[in-house]
Amino acid sequence: MEFDPKWLAWEITRRCNLNCVHCRSSSELEAKEHPDFSFDEAKRILDDIASYASPVVVLSGGEPLLRDDVFEIAAYGTGKGLRMCLATNGTLVNEQVCRRLKEAGIRMVSLSLDGADATVHDNFRNQPGAFDGTINAARLFKEHDIPFLINSSFTKRNQAEIPKVYRLAKELGAKAWYMFMIVPTGRGEDIMAELISPEEYEELLEWHYQMEKQEDDLLVRPTCAPHYYRVVRQKAKEEGEKFQQRTLQFSTGGSKGCLAGQLIALIDVDGNVLPCSYFPLAAGNLRQQSFKDVWENSQLFKEMRDFKGYRGRCGSCEYVNVCGGCRARAYAVSGDYLAEEPFCSHQPLKLAAGK
Ligand code: SF4
Ligand code: SF4
Repeated sequence: MEFDPKWLAWEITRRCNLNCVHCRSSSELEAKEHPDFSFDEAKRILDDIASYASPVVVLSGGEPLLRDDVFEIAAYGTGKGLRMCLATNGTLVNEQVCRRLKEAGIRMVSLSLDGADATVHDNFRNQPGAFDGTINAARLFKEHDIPFLINSSFTKRNQAEIPKVYRLAKELGAKAWYMFMIVPTGRGEDIMAELISPEEYEELLEWHYQMEKQEDDLLVRPTCAPHYYRVVRQKAKEEGEKFQQRTLQFSTGGSKGCLAGQLIALIDVDGNVLPCSYFPLAAGNLRQQSFKDVWENSQLFKEMRDFKGYRGRCGSCEYVNVCGGCRARAYAVSGDYLAEEPFCSHQPLKLAAGK
């Protein structure tokens, strides 16, 4: 596997206008201690990235549309040849925002939708009106011909909504729908008890497999469910089928389950480079180092790319090269990011055979 940076999420602000139950970063108090960086710093970071690689760069947050210069940052990245995208909760999108996103060369926008109606979504987002904001944004993006995808986060609280949210994403005209079982980190730790159990997680991945086989329009893939890559192979073998997964666009998903620190990373508002949005340890910092230096020399990234060093069931697993387990979940549950993925039910063949 080549470890080139293909997809970067960039937290351009930690400020947010919502207060979601699962959010990794958006507490108002915390945002005061992590202020937005200047436009000059934004340009320096984009210059630095573009001098080394040409990844998709997703402007995210917090809520990135709270920054007045978000369009200038996007346009600067576009001018550098980077494929600029935006992740928004949708509530601040209007006609003018759509026009400016287009002018800035934004290639794809991702929206969050965690329920098929206002009651469920607004409860998850802790904000009355959040659902209407997302639906309105989807309608505007469609009118302005701005491609968008929908990310949906699930816990026990809203897991019954999964098939309905999938159908709604289709109706809204999204290019892709990515379902995500939340990873406990930041404020998410408080809802450890709300997480979907490994057994139910397995059932949901099997449901997704059956759905994905029949879906030939919308791009679909469970996000950060690395063991889906195992489930797909096991199910296809059981059913005697050859199942070719479609290539995703502008997303973290690819040929392998977990890509943290391997093809993807997160740059936070303080310049820290982290393996992904849910992994709380930094590989380096762009205020002291170049992106190339962090990407090529970080000890953390080297360890995450060395699958032979993984421990527990993942370390013995025949699927480690296509799955890898979620390193952030391993860290959240055991304190060891190389430990086994705690939300996978698979018993590797080697262990089953007592080797
Ligand atoms: S044991 Fe680990 S590597 Fe194997 S399928 Fe489960 S999560 Fe993936
Ligand atoms: S560590 Fe977990 S949350 Fe991060 S990219 Fe990998 S699967 Fe996703």
